[in-house]
Amino acid sequence: MTRIGVLALQGDVAEHVRMLGECGADAVPVRRPEELLTVDALVIPGGESTTISKLAVEFEVFEPIRKRVAEGMPAYGSCAGMIMLAERVLDGRDDQRAFGGVDMTVRRNAFGRQVDSFETDLRIAGVDGDPLHAVFIRAPWVESVGESVEVLSRVTGGRADGRIVAVRQGNVLATAFHPELTDDLRVHRLFADMVRAAAAG
Ligand code: GLN
Repeated sequence: MTRIGVLALQGDVAEHVRMLGECGADAVPVRRPEELLTVDALVIPGGESTTISKLAVEFEVFEPIRKRVAEGMPAYGSCAGMIMLAERVLDGRDDQRAFGGVDMTVRRNAFGRQVDSFETDLRIAGVDGDPLHAVFIRAPWVESVGESVEVLSRVTGGRADGRIVAVRQGNVLATAFHPELTDDLRVHRLFADMVRAAAAG
């Protein structure tokens, strides 16, 4: 069975572990380099990207994660996790670093101060059935993507109409919203399927 780690430095760790478990995956928190070695894939939770970046360096997992993602380890990031998987970050703190993995530019806290949090229904490529109810909390959006990036979802309506909020490049998936804060397992299932497919070669 493939094992999926959830980066457990800060943020929605327990929620991701629970949802991956409900999808039938073996999900474990990862905080140390030795723990990273035991997993086939990694989820980077929502939380605060500046804190996750700082703690990843302190816990000496920053370089190992960056390297494994670059080598093709499946990864999924929600919100702050999306920022961590971006090649380029706008409105970040000067000292914040990202693992990279998706050829995209994300803008931190993009939806603006007035709209700290909001919820909307989204169509997501690869997610069948009804639109997914998406929860955004001080979320980034994707400002631009390179040619190898698949855009999976865009916001429709309102000030952010057309903004990209879900992407995939190879084995890396990222969403600006938090499926882990809802009961909808479909995004986690999509990722668990990506992990199984990658393991099967
Ligand atoms: N604004 C946060 C950041 O920069 C992300 C918020 C979230 O993950 N809910 O990391």
